[in-house]
Amino acid sequence: MESQDLSSLESVRLRYRAIRRPEMKLVLKVQDQILTSIREFLRRKRFMEILAPIIGPATDPGIRGAKQVSIQYYGAPFKIMSSMILYKQMIISSFEKVFALSPNIRLELPESVKTARHLAEFRQIDLEMVHASYDDAMNLAEGLLASVVRDVREKCYEELKGLGRDLKEVTAPFKRLTHKQAVQLLRSNGYMISFVEEIPWDAEVVLSALHERPFFVYDYPLVSRGFYDREDSSRPGILRDFDMLYPEGFGEAISGGEREHTYEGVLKRMKLTGVDPEEYEWYLQMLKEGIPHSVGFGIGIERLTRWICGLKTIWEAVPFPKVPGIASP
Ligand code: AMP
Ligand code: MG
Repeated sequence: MESQDLSSLESVRLRYRAIRRPEMKLVLKVQDQILTSIREFLRRKRFMEILAPIIGPATDPGIRGAKQVSIQYYGAPFKIMSSMILYKQMIISSFEKVFALSPNIRLELPESVKTARHLAEFRQIDLEMVHASYDDAMNLAEGLLASVVRDVREKCYEELKGLGRDLKEVTAPFKRLTHKQAVQLLRSNGYMISFVEEIPWDAEVVLSALHERPFFVYDYPLVSRGFYDREDSSRPGILRDFDMLYPEGFGEAISGGEREHTYEGVLKRMKLTGVDPEEYEWYLQMLKEGIPHSVGFGIGIERLTRWICGLKTIWEAVPFPKVPGIASP
């Protein structure tokens, strides 16, 4: 890591100093606009905002090697949300389009500090809608990002200038690569990565740096993701899911997908991904009783802020950062 990054890490330990920096004030003003724009956009699309859960008996296991945090809740083993995916599936039985600003805890490996895009505490705008496809979700995601960028360019002109950020307008439709095409592109650039796994973090940066505009990677291979991403019934081994990536080396922005929502289907996938069904009792019971087909995604707010403001690290994009491995206020 460069020395500049290390000194900004030091300022994380002494947060009361970092928070007073003039750049931090500019970043947080932009972040306020980002949150306002997202809410306005989603309300225009008839999404309803709900309150996110913070703890529960089970949470998202698909977190790429990060550890979940367990607590005792009146004698019962509970988890702090790594994401609210299971709860989104619960609520869309009652409301067709929902979103929440959801706080998540994931104890990422201490090495992940080198990626400059992992925090141990972060927030997503997490949304879900019924009876829609992953194409609909990608259309929504690109519309959302274009709208946020337009608003920030217009309303935070001074802040972007102060940060030295030349944020280009983005227009839909974004480029869409299948996972297979993305792997082929990386292989042709010397990254011999696997066709049947998630794209590793370093290769993700390379892929992102090959682009000047945000883009999608879709159709991930089975077992690379959580048990809730739906397998395409006519193309076994391929999931109807996607990521959006920021350009310029900033990496992953969004993960989303259609949901496997049948009891039998989820049980099969749990076995395949090594998840113990006993931990997910209420969830499986809910699936037995039946929930609608849905699609959804989550967009990390700190990563979005980092890209919009053109910041070197994600911990410059949050007032009280929790950097993996560092105990800070
Ligand atoms: P995931 O379910 O892991 O794909 O997470 C959904 C979104 O949350 C990602 O696309 C990122 O924007 C964001 N995110 C995930 N993990 C982290 C992390 N450790 N730190 C910051 N943002 C994260
Ligand atoms: Mg992801």
